[in-house]
Amino acid sequence: MQKKLTTKHILTLFFTLVISESFGHDLKHVEPPFWWADFNHKELQLLVHGENISQLEPKISYKGVEIKKVHKVDNPNYLFLDLLLKKNKPKKFTINFYKDKKIILKHDYEILKRKKGAENKETISGRDVIYLITPDRYANGDEENDEVKSLLEKHNRGNKDGRHGGDIQGIINNLDYIEEMGFTQIWSMPLLENAMDNYSYHGYAITDHYNIDARYGSNQLYRQLSREANEHNIGIIMDVVLNHIGSNHPWMSDLPSSDWVHHQGEFSPTTHRREALHDIHGVEADKKAFSNGWFVPTMPDLNQQNPYLATYLIQNAIWWVEYAQLSGIRVDTYSYSDKAFLTRWTKALTTQYPDLNIVGEEWTTNPVITSYWQAGSNPADGYQSYLPSVMDFPLQQALVNALKNEESWGSGLIELYEILASDALYGDPYNLVTFTDNHDMSRIFTQLDENYALWDMAMTYLLTSRGIPQVFYGTEILMANPGTDDHGIIRTDFPGGWAHHDQNAVTQKGLSSLQKKAQNRMRSLLNFRRQHPGAVSGEYLHYVPEAGIYVYFRLNKQGTPVMMGLLNKNTAVTEVELGRFAPQLKQIKQLTRLKDNKTVAATAATLSVPAQSASVWLLQ
Ligand code: CA
Repeated sequence: MQKKLTTKHILTLFFTLVISESFGHDLKHVEPPFWWADFNHKELQLLVHGENISQLEPKISYKGVEIKKVHKVDNPNYLFLDLLLKKNKPKKFTINFYKDKKIILKHDYEILKRKKGAENKETISGRDVIYLITPDRYANGDEENDEVKSLLEKHNRGNKDGRHGGDIQGIINNLDYIEEMGFTQIWSMPLLENAMDNYSYHGYAITDHYNIDARYGSNQLYRQLSREANEHNIGIIMDVVLNHIGSNHPWMSDLPSSDWVHHQGEFSPTTHRREALHDIHGVEADKKAFSNGWFVPTMPDLNQQNPYLATYLIQNAIWWVEYAQLSGIRVDTYSYSDKAFLTRWTKALTTQYPDLNIVGEEWTTNPVITSYWQAGSNPADGYQSYLPSVMDFPLQQALVNALKNEESWGSGLIELYEILASDALYGDPYNLVTFTDNHDMSRIFTQLDENYALWDMAMTYLLTSRGIPQVFYGTEILMANPGTDDHGIIRTDFPGGWAHHDQNAVTQKGLSSLQKKAQNRMRSLLNFRRQHPGAVSGEYLHYVPEAGIYVYFRLNKQGTPVMMGLLNKNTAVTEVELGRFAPQLKQIKQLTRLKDNKTVAATAATLSVPAQSASVWLLQ
């Protein structure tokens, strides 16, 4: 049937004619794709990418938004527009691109209204426990998105390094389980598009900073995850990558400027010698070789000294916090980015969101280096950081050493004690993110030679010591990587996440009795934290380990001890004399053991402690 020509058709025809006159020009990207009113800063910089776009003159007729400055760069296909949101109100308007007083291109832009309370949203704190998920390997909630036509790498569960089909819907489906276990934050490895040829499932080779990878879902689904997680009292932490991009990022086929990535886009590896940044004897060349080198040929290293790129990365992070109502950010390979830029980036984020917790990854066991990046640490060179938290790699290594190494003057539990004794270096040791393992290292059950008693001690310590604990998915059912430290094996599919699995971690179907025991123990520890938030977030006191026993206390705000933790590495039941702990115990009446509610008077002379065990006592 012949359709009547409507106004819409006439308009479409008109714009088609306009576009046909725009030969030689087009618009590929305008980023950020939209923005919000009522931020405390009124500046916004748009990256505009399109063929020969720099030959056109952008204009906005709406008086509430002014183009303060138009920046041209080496590449004529880019423009950077400094906008001033004078009215700072929600509004749709059009950016017209002119040539010889004729409109060649048009782009509709929108300033949205911010969600109420977005500024002071609850963030990650010492009361939380973070659940780290590898999204491709956690649960396949939507088989329809396992393969996406436009994305090169296809579904291949037979390949340990391939895409297995896990997605955001899978995480949503498991929210009941995650909440019931007692986790209160989800940190997923990056979910942004990784349109790489292969080995893309890890997510750290980003090819689009404003879109969720279609194999995980969509931006809307990510926002739904955040909303539904919030209904389960769970926050969402985004994994942000500032240091590098994926080599298939559109920037790489049309670089805005030659200094956008280091080494003019050619692979030159980083030395990974982060010490050079902190070394008072160090030379400039070594610092550069660390910061400016690439990780791998498929991950070009970004040069955040380029001011447009720096602004792009700052706005991008703010955009996601606002869009997905994030409760926190984890920054990948933190120290590899430019130091001055990191100051700017953390300051911008924490100025906009004063309560937002952000944790940087700095993989070193030297607390002099990890502490350097945390706000308030006051390092010797006066470096200013606004980063609230760092990953506590030193504690991770010390805890494993403490449990595995033989007790001697310099080894065993003393290694844990010594690391904690270095906490004075940190601006805020209580805000460090602590963990026993993560997605980049052997699973803790493997690190502890599949010794359940040691696993129990590690988990009990992690969940009752200072800091914000993070648990890698599957740790609760003793997932392991025996005989290999291959990342693909470490990040094995979570049992029950795929339809055909004969094991299911959520229903406990097919789990061994030891796995069930571990899961119940984890749940009980997490519940203890939930019921006694004061017992796990207050001041930490500890005693020098003696004869294979390490004792620590948590105090409440009034300074009264509320919890006592005790690690016993001895292979026999040990009678621990309590007299040494009188300064704490004289303030209370009785001790109640978490495991079985056994009570002991605080005046008792000794405490009988099972062999190779961790025990937690509530003090009243
Ligand atoms: Ca899927």
